[in-house]
Amino acid sequence: MKKQPNQNQHETKIVATLGPSSNSEEKIGQLIEAGANVFRLNFSHGDAQGHIDTAALIRKVAAQQNQYVAILADLQGPKIRIGKLPDGKVTLENGASVAIDITPDFVAKDASVIGCDFKSLPQQVKGGDVLLLDDGYIQLTVESVKGSITHCSVLVGGVLKSNKGINKLGGGLSAPSLTQKDLNDIKHAAKTGADFLAVSFVSSAQDMNEAREYAKQAGFNPGLIAKIERAELANDLALLDDVINASDGVMVARGDLAVEIGDAALVGMQKHIIHRARLLGRFVITATQMMESMITQPSPTRAEVMDVANAVLDGSDAVMLSAESAAGDFPVEAVKAMANICNGAETQRFIDRRALQDMEITSSEEAIASYAIQTANSLPGVKCIVALTETGNTTLLMSRFNTDFPIYAFSAHQSSLQRVAIYRWVHPISCDKNHLKNNSQEAIALLKDKGLVVSGDRIIITHGDVGSPSGGTNNLRIAVVE
Ligand code: PGA
Ligand code: MN
Repeated sequence: MKKQPNQNQHETKIVATLGPSSNSEEKIGQLIEAGANVFRLNFSHGDAQGHIDTAALIRKVAAQQNQYVAILADLQGPKIRIGKLPDGKVTLENGASVAIDITPDFVAKDASVIGCDFKSLPQQVKGGDVLLLDDGYIQLTVESVKGSITHCSVLVGGVLKSNKGINKLGGGLSAPSLTQKDLNDIKHAAKTGADFLAVSFVSSAQDMNEAREYAKQAGFNPGLIAKIERAELANDLALLDDVINASDGVMVARGDLAVEIGDAALVGMQKHIIHRARLLGRFVITATQMMESMITQPSPTRAEVMDVANAVLDGSDAVMLSAESAAGDFPVEAVKAMANICNGAETQRFIDRRALQDMEITSSEEAIASYAIQTANSLPGVKCIVALTETGNTTLLMSRFNTDFPIYAFSAHQSSLQRVAIYRWVHPISCDKNHLKNNSQEAIALLKDKGLVVSGDRIIITHGDVGSPSGGTNNLRIAVVE
């Protein structure tokens, strides 16, 4: 029951971060053609108006191409950063002494004392702690703390640039998750009309509830994504489950997570997060340094090919490009390479095939979704699954199970069509409101027109009742294409 060899659409979705290399009308068009399904607006960089303008461009280009792509607004969160350095950088020699000063607006003159924007740093570190700068490229050992100054020695030196991040090995540098900038950016994100909002450095379900409340106050109802990047969550799996349950989806935010828990622990943690997210009915993105060498090279390394493939086999809904598409020299090539690797990996068996009986069935939608997948996976001759859906929720439920068949989400709602773009196996197709209610002949004709099915193919179709007020999928049909 492998993916059909002639099927060249990737089922695992691609999130491409936009930035100076890619936020033009021309590049956005090329990225969609290359296979990008979701665009990330990174609020750690750029100004609010820039993101609002980019979002408008995305909607314009997607409409021209007749494609449904999602927009993900990603909040900066309390990333702790060092201050400005003379001429933008200093060189730290192994074994040298370096102090960190938290005095506001401290300006470094040389490599002996650097500034930091986190005023609780001296309270939260002690002698022997290891500080990781710039995603761990530079490491400092804390020697002592005196007043506002943290004295360190350089464990692993190198060139340190201004404003790079600081993490503590093992986690524990904790600023509140939603900063004042994030609260303002939620209002800006509302103006972008984003489909998803990602919250950085989440430490509890409460953080997600607060973000949801602030979004609501801004008249904004995005799918909420918790970025899993704190050691506190990795070290407390019940807390991690709480955070997943408080979110619509999660991100394995490997950039910060890896520096907090170490590479060795990251291997199992990526698999754990993906497994739990799927089991708890949430979607999951695997992110950061997936194709890092493509920032400067037109093709990926073999190791990167296998890293993306591994994330697909682990069960990710989507894989993400960061600097590769935002600031690299080959954004379009990176998306193409990723789509190609997803296609290859999808012909292989899933590592974590989820059994139907693992899912607790609590609603008619869940029952229909699980039986649709079970039928598709076992009945000979099935080509695809069609869900006539208002909200897209049935397709999320279906895509929590592992299948080899595309799920076509037919909806009349622009927002539902955009949202389902991030779910693995799910492909949005716009249709007239009238088609939604069990008029499945129209849906079959549309699929035939698009060349996605031929006469004799079996299709599994799910839908609600005619005249039922809001969605409520409760029917499953097996149709044969005439
Ligand atoms: P960032 O999040 O790129 O916003 O830091 C992702 C990560 O930490 O991996
Ligand atoms: Mn991060």
